[in-house]
Amino acid sequence: MRIGIIGAGQLGQMLGYAARDLDMQCVFIDPSVSPPAAACGEVIEAAFDDASALARLAESCDVVTYEFENVPVAALAEIASRVPVYPPPAALQHAQDRLAEKQLFRRLDIPLPAFQRVDSKADLETAAETIGLPLVLKTRRFGYDGKGQFVVRTAADINTAWQALGGVALIAEQWVNFDYEVSAIGARNPDGNIISYPLTQNQHVDGILHSSRAPLADEALTLLAEQYLRRLLKELDYVGVLALELFVAGDQLLANEFAPRVHNSGHWSIEGAQPSQFTAHLLAISNASLETPQVQGHAGMLNLLGEIPQAVRALKCGVLHDYGKAARPGRKLGHYTVIANTSAERDRLLAEIEQNVA
Ligand code: AMP
Repeated sequence: MRIGIIGAGQLGQMLGYAARDLDMQCVFIDPSVSPPAAACGEVIEAAFDDASALARLAESCDVVTYEFENVPVAALAEIASRVPVYPPPAALQHAQDRLAEKQLFRRLDIPLPAFQRVDSKADLETAAETIGLPLVLKTRRFGYDGKGQFVVRTAADINTAWQALGGVALIAEQWVNFDYEVSAIGARNPDGNIISYPLTQNQHVDGILHSSRAPLADEALTLLAEQYLRRLLKELDYVGVLALELFVAGDQLLANEFAPRVHNSGHWSIEGAQPSQFTAHLLAISNASLETPQVQGHAGMLNLLGEIPQAVRALKCGVLHDYGKAARPGRKLGHYTVIANTSAERDRLLAEIEQNVA
C-alpha cells in the first residue's frame, strides 16, 4: 500500500516510521529541503498546493493524508475525486476556521468558552461587554502554538489588541481559568469503527505544548471526553486520527479546538500504546480494523525546543526522538518519552529530564 502524505515534518516522519512496520510506503510533498520525513520516504519538493505534485500523489498512491493543517482545502478537494483523501477535507475546513470550529462544537452540544466573531474594533468592544474581561482575541485562521493571539485583560488593552491583530478575521473568546488542559485522541475508519486513547493531560508554556502525561486518572472526565470525541468523529464522517483539546474546569470540560491529524500530545503512544496514534492513523485511512489501544504503564512526554542538550542525549531513562531538524530558538527539535510503573515515578523521570533541559 502506498500512502501519500502532504507535509514532511516530524509528524510525517513518525507516520513514515510507523508505515515501515506495516509494510506500507510513504511519499511526501513538502516545499522544504531535506525535511524530517526524508528519513523514511520519497519527498516531492513542491508547495502544498502544487497541482502537478498533488496529481502525481493522487496517481501513485492508494490514499492521501496530511500532517499539516494549513493545506489549502481546495487543493485537497481537487484530488479527492481521484483518490481517497483522509481525514475528509470538510473536517480540515472546520479546523482551519476557529469560528466554524466553535459553531460545530455548539451544534454538537460540546461545551465551550463563550465566543464572538470580531470583524471590527466596535465588535471587539461589544465582545468585551458581552463576554466580559479578560478575553482572548485570536485570528480565525492560520494560528498555531498560541500565535496570532492577544489577551485583553482590561478595557485599556482593546486598542493595543486591535492594533496587533486587527485587519484579518478574528474571534474573541472568554478567558478560562482552567485547572489544567487535556486532549482526547481517537481514530475512526471508513466502516465507522472508533477507538480512543486514554485522556492525556497537557501542560503548555507560552502557548506551546511543553509536556504530556497519560493516562489521566479520572474516569468521569475520560468518559465525558470520549463522548464529545465520538460526536465529532461521527458528525464529520471522519477517517483517521483526531485530537480534541479541552480545558478542565472542576468537573466540566470545555472544548478549545480540534486537530484533524496525529497530534503532539499523542507522541507518548509510540512507546506507551499498541497501536500508537501513528499506526492507528495508517490503519484507519487504509480501512483496516482498529483494535482498542493496549496501554502500558504511565507515560510522560517532554518536548525539546531550541536545542537538544548533550545531557539529555546521555539519559537512559526513556526514549529520545530527534527529528533531525536544524536548531533554532523555540523550534520543536525532538521529544523525550518515559514509561513508568506509577504516575509518581513517571513525574519524577520527567522532572529529571527537565533539569537537564534548563
Ligand atoms: P490555541 O492555539 O487556541 O490552542 O491556544 C494555545 C494555548 O493558549 C492553549 O493551549 C491554552 O493554554 C491557552 N489558551 C487558549 N485559549 C484560551 C482561553 N480561552 N482561556 C485560557 N487559556 C487559553
